[in-house]
Amino acid sequence: MSTKSPFHPATLLLHEGSERTPFGETSEAMFLTSGFVYDDAEQAEATFLGQAQRYQYSRFGNPTVATFERRMAALEGAEACRATATGMAAVSSALLAHLKTGDRIVASRALFGSCHWIVSTLLPRYGIESVFVDGGDHAAWAEALGKPTQCVLLETPSNPMLDVLDLRMIADLAHAAGAVVVVDNVFATPLLQKPLELGADVVVYSCTKHIDGQGRVLGGAVLGRKQWIEDTLQPFLRNTGPAMSPFNAWVLLKGLETLALRVPAMARNAAEIADFLAGQPEVARVWYPTRADHPQQALSLRQMQGGGTLVTFALADKTAAFRFMNALELIAISNNLGDSRSMVTHPATTTHMKIGAEERAALGITDGVIRFSVGLEDVRDLLDDLRRGLRAASAGLSGTGELAAE
Ligand SMILES: *Cc1c(COP(=O)(O)O)cnc(C)c1O
Repeated sequence: MSTKSPFHPATLLLHEGSERTPFGETSEAMFLTSGFVYDDAEQAEATFLGQAQRYQYSRFGNPTVATFERRMAALEGAEACRATATGMAAVSSALLAHLKTGDRIVASRALFGSCHWIVSTLLPRYGIESVFVDGGDHAAWAEALGKPTQCVLLETPSNPMLDVLDLRMIADLAHAAGAVVVVDNVFATPLLQKPLELGADVVVYSCTKHIDGQGRVLGGAVLGRKQWIEDTLQPFLRNTGPAMSPFNAWVLLKGLETLALRVPAMARNAAEIADFLAGQPEVARVWYPTRADHPQQALSLRQMQGGGTLVTFALADKTAAFRFMNALELIAISNNLGDSRSMVTHPATTTHMKIGAEERAALGITDGVIRFSVGLEDVRDLLDDLRRGLRAASAGLSGTGELAAE
């Protein structure tokens, strides 16, 4: 179902979907308007009858948002795209638009926190059966998909342990069970992994991450077949209203212009940092999809065009992790990711606190685990900052020589 643009990604990220107004502007115009006017009452009637195709109201569609959607669709190789206000609006709309009472969803256990909440807590409230499986366990997928299922949701590489799931294998099992496969492709980005080419039906993004990538706006996107987007998703979006602001669409278009420069540069830094960390005595373990010590390295090399911009590693315990983070001077402590600025997170006490100790243990998130979203800084400066943090972790002292606050 994948469709191809005649342009390579770096080119289409600048040009695809642009529509100049008669003023001949260079940059995309920003149509910061909530609604649109009609020439006469007949035109309004024809529009509402579906006989005339035009913009009516920005909850249903907007020219700047549509430009962003066309560019995203071309980048993904998807037939159609709809933009949403946030990544969570994209995930929740895709699931709620598709599922109904009595349906069944099978999801990988290692999901972004709010996606996990939707599957474990929200959907069952509406009488939708939800089943979690360990994403790397083929037998568990085969068993869970042994009965009719309407939807499969998964994330690969996963947050924060960077498990890599076999998209082709899971899609084949899911399709045999009658399910639509929804892939949250945030960690890989549209440049490094093409789920639609590997059998997925729907791809969702938090555009807040790499697509903006500069810490400015929230946004989301749902991509898939034209028929599913128009018949299943669009009525849900139109009537429930998780629309993307045209201002945010315009900012995200600026983000897309440099995506093909930023992501490979961040991924190069990440690969170098993963190799550095693996050689440090304070580091118990490193996870990076394309490294030889990653359990799914062969699959990562087959399925992805690079290891991505995140590196996860384990220090001895929570104390070491906090000392490390508090000693950093360049790398920020933040739960965000995919930004051009480097950021570290301690999942056990932040993003993955609410799932509880038992679920964290099942996912391998120990108290020493740190997730590092690698940015665009000069890698030599990042390595210096990491050395400073590791010294503090091992000495029990912060980088400034004072006792670290706990
Ligand atoms: C951030 C994120 C989301 C949610 O996106 P928002 O834009 O914050 O709503 C969903 N999935 C993954 C994997 C994410 O990293």
